[in-house]
Parts: sequence; C-alpha cells; structure tokens
Amino acid sequence: MIILQEGHPDFAGEIQETSGVDFNLCLHCKTCANGCPFVEAMDYAPNKIIRLIQLGMADEALKSSTIWVCVGCNTCSSGCPMAIDIPMLMDGLRHKALETGVEIAEPDILNFHQEVLNTVRKYGRTHKLEIMMRYKFKKMDLLSDMGVGLKMLKKRKLDLIASRIQDKKAIDKIFKNK
Ligand code: SF4
Ligand code: SF4
Repeated sequence: MIILQEGHPDFAGEIQETSGVDFNLCLHCKTCANGCPFVEAMDYAPNKIIRLIQLGMADEALKSSTIWVCVGCNTCSSGCPMAIDIPMLMDGLRHKALETGVEIAEPDILNFHQEVLNTVRKYGRTHKLEIMMRYKFKKMDLLSDMGVGLKMLKKRKLDLIASRIQDKKAIDKIFKNK
C-alpha cells in the first residue's frame, strides 16, 4: 500500500530524463506486476514504483528494494500494453539512488551488480564463477552456497576459465565513456 507523503515536484521529470522512459503512458493495468517472477521479493510491485514516481515520492522509490531486486528480465515490458521499458526505468532509478546517496535497500545486491560489471570490464562478458567467488569473499560467506556451486560445476554450468571477447577495445571504450 502506498501511504501518501509530500512529493518532490521535479522527481518524475528527473527520472524520465535519466531513464529515457515515458512512464506516464502507464495504464496501471498491473500486467507487469502479475507477470514479474520476482514480485514476491519486492516491497513495491513494478506498477507501484511507477505510481510512486508520478506522485513525486522520491524517497519511497529510491529506497525501495524493488529497484535492486529487478533482474531486467523484460517479462514485464514484453507484456505491457504500452510497451513501457520497465528495466530501463529501474536502471534509471538505481543510478539516481546511487547519485543521491540514499540508503540502499539491498546492499548485497549492489555488491553483486558491481562484481558482474567487474567481469564484463575484464573479459567483455560475464564469468559466473569469478562473480560468485568474489561476491562470497566480500561477504565473508564462502560456505553457504557451496552445495549449489558444486552441483553447477558438475553439470558444467560454470566455466572454470573465463573467456574473453575478441573486440575487447569496444568494451574498454564503453567503460571509458561512463
Ligand atoms: S503493464 Fe505497463 S501499462 Fe500496465 S501497469 Fe505495468 S507498466 Fe503500466
Ligand atoms: S524486468 Fe524486473 S520488474 Fe520486469 S519482470 Fe523482470 S524482474 Fe520484474
């Protein structure tokens, strides 16, 4: 449930500019919320995040777990009757949250995002084993998912050695322009 608080009048415009997403087209039909595989882990369903932005409730939106729990799978946007790019919107909100320095609702997920980016920067693609190892080291929690990790290794779902894309310079350029 959204509890109305005093809104920030510029917030909606700022998020529209940062994300490039016209969320004012939203019909609030809830198709996105009904299809999202992670909605149970979110404090606000995706359509409610849009409502928070429209109401200018910056703190509620930027401190929500939703923006960090979203994995950008596009299930919502592919079903949206207005083709609203919700993953891009979540990305814009994450940027804004980091920029404004608000308390991050899911700091562990932020660390995970950083490790994913580190491998993309290094190899031009992700390397799951390295991401998991580095993330686990950071958390000082090496053993809790060991069973799953070993199963994945056994089923060859994890590459031991990272592979690098051919045109690594193109990736370096992207990171340089960030
Ligand atoms: S599916 Fe699209 S139109 Fe419907 S609530 Fe979600 S974002 Fe809004
Ligand atoms: S992109 Fe995010 S909000 Fe949309 S369905 Fe996937 S996890 Fe849910």
